Amino acid sequence: MELSLSRVHFPVTTLGPGRRLGIWFQGCSIRCPGCISADTWGAGHLRLSTEKLLEQITPWLREAEGITISGGEPFDQFDALLRLLQGLRRLSQADILVYSGYPLEKLDAKLRQANGLIDALISDPYDETLSQSMALRGSDNQRLSLLTPIGRTRLGNYDRPLEPADKALDLMFDETGSVWMAGIPRRGDLLRLRDLLQDQGHHLQISAHAARRR
Ligand code: SF4
Repeated sequence: MELSLSRVHFPVTTLGPGRRLGIWFQGCSIRCPGCISADTWGAGHLRLSTEKLLEQITPWLREAEGITISGGEPFDQFDALLRLLQGLRRLSQADILVYSGYPLEKLDAKLRQANGLIDALISDPYDETLSQSMALRGSDNQRLSLLTPIGRTRLGNYDRPLEPADKALDLMFDETGSVWMAGIPRRGDLLRLRDLLQDQGHHLQISAHAARRR
């Protein structure tokens, strides 16, 4: 089973508790106005089998306290997502948090198929007209669903407003010298950082499911 992948990274410390393995799917059909992860909308160039991906991330899985799957839209590649989730569950005890831009009600049947494989889900499309005051979310319409006992234990305390101590972004340089980010940027912060980096000749890419342009 092949999937289109944007990137993987370890450790990510901004999208859930602990040192996490981040997996970003490539491709999103939802296309929320204001999304700054437009680089993850198209089909992309990196396709690989779920088995190959699991093989490549196995060393990180031994260390990861949690796994966050985002994109792009993971549920647009549902068969591959399901296969990946089954493999992750087999290989790791880490909690699994999945982001989706689909409304929770639309995911009902798929969540039943993935029963027990997703510990926590953040659903619903980013809405740039709404405020951003809740932990792990880019706009306040997005809902956190705790789907398993692991999810309730590990992510139960994230159903709360953002706190000053919440980290907003992990900042990374890739092998091409590009800077990219994981996390939920506060509005305004990102533009200031992008302008600063561009002034110094860097190209900024953002991989944060609910990252915003404004
Ligand atoms: S916020 Fe997420 S669901 Fe919305 S367009 Fe961006 S990647 Fe797609």
